[in-house]
Amino acid sequence: MTDADQTGSPPIPADWHARERAILAPWAMHATDSAGREHPEESHPFRSPYQRDRDRIVHSAAFRRLAHKTQVFTDYPGDFHRSRLTHTLEVTSIARTLARTLALNEDLVEALALAHDIGHPPLGHAGEDTLNDLLTDEGGFSHNSQALRIMTLLEQRYPGFPGLNLSREVLDAQAVRARQPEAPTPLLETQVVDAADSIAYDTHDADDAVELGLVTLEELLSLPLVAAAARRVTERFGELGPLALRRAVLHQLIETQVADLIAATARRLQAEQFASATAARTVTREDGRLVIHEPELAAGKKELERFLFEQVYRSSRVMEVRERAQQQLRNLFVWYCEHPHDMPPRYRQRVESVGLRRSVADYLAGMTDRFLSRDAQRRLG
Ligand code: MG
Repeated sequence: MTDADQTGSPPIPADWHARERAILAPWAMHATDSAGREHPEESHPFRSPYQRDRDRIVHSAAFRRLAHKTQVFTDYPGDFHRSRLTHTLEVTSIARTLARTLALNEDLVEALALAHDIGHPPLGHAGEDTLNDLLTDEGGFSHNSQALRIMTLLEQRYPGFPGLNLSREVLDAQAVRARQPEAPTPLLETQVVDAADSIAYDTHDADDAVELGLVTLEELLSLPLVAAAARRVTERFGELGPLALRRAVLHQLIETQVADLIAATARRLQAEQFASATAARTVTREDGRLVIHEPELAAGKKELERFLFEQVYRSSRVMEVRERAQQQLRNLFVWYCEHPHDMPPRYRQRVESVGLRRSVADYLAGMTDRFLSRDAQRRLG
């Protein structure tokens, strides 16, 4: 028994090095082995480097704006469906469960998950496609590359450096998502976040689509993955009314996917017994990802995704709103190219270093859906 126990005061917490050594698998990314930051900084007395990364992301303007950015459904009345922020929080919650259960670095996973969508422009993928068309001659636009620009350049919050000066591992994970040719092989933590992203959106897009009347619960139940979840729910709770059934099925869908992913991944990791995160990366490079579902569940997810694509993302109702919003974004882009002095000073100043069209795109990409539509009203009438 220590002195602290005798006096009843809490024990002095072990430092994060000791904590990581105690709880992480050898194949997890240990913060002690981090490649560090572009602009060197002193270590923090009680936060690990990845905890600091997480906090910098949460305190960024780009993160706050996710609250008012569209996930899939632009301009729908009501407040039921997901925004980018609630999607991000769902991904983070799933990813942390996966990381903790697999003894991977939960702090790193949390930082990656919170950051994974900060590059999204307004209007979701509709906005992304429009900006990509407008920037064809300037190297295009993608939300994943934009996240890297935000992390390394656009956020101006610290006196010592541009961007957020995040750990190399966070930037590398984003480079993987942006499909940059020089991106390294993804860490297991990066793979966890990608899998959690897919679990979250497959499930919540189905939920939102039923809520908005784009598909019916019966149509969803025709998919084997959803039907299996419904059978499981009925076994546990008996017959339920439509709304209770839908909610229970969606929770079950997440549970089924998470359980499958953990079992499949744990089996692979136990068999491999990697000595380090680097060793796991080598196998990933040669054999592909290790954090993947069993084949049967992967096939079920593919079918659900195909259904969502045809019935929801490309439905005439979603497409019609999408085209109207895209036209507004395009018109505003042209307007700012003709009136660069009406952009905030730092976007104006960057015109010289990054070019007019890129700087206008950076400004527009930072807007929320709401800001965009108000600004378009004001500028274009
Ligand atoms: Mg996402």
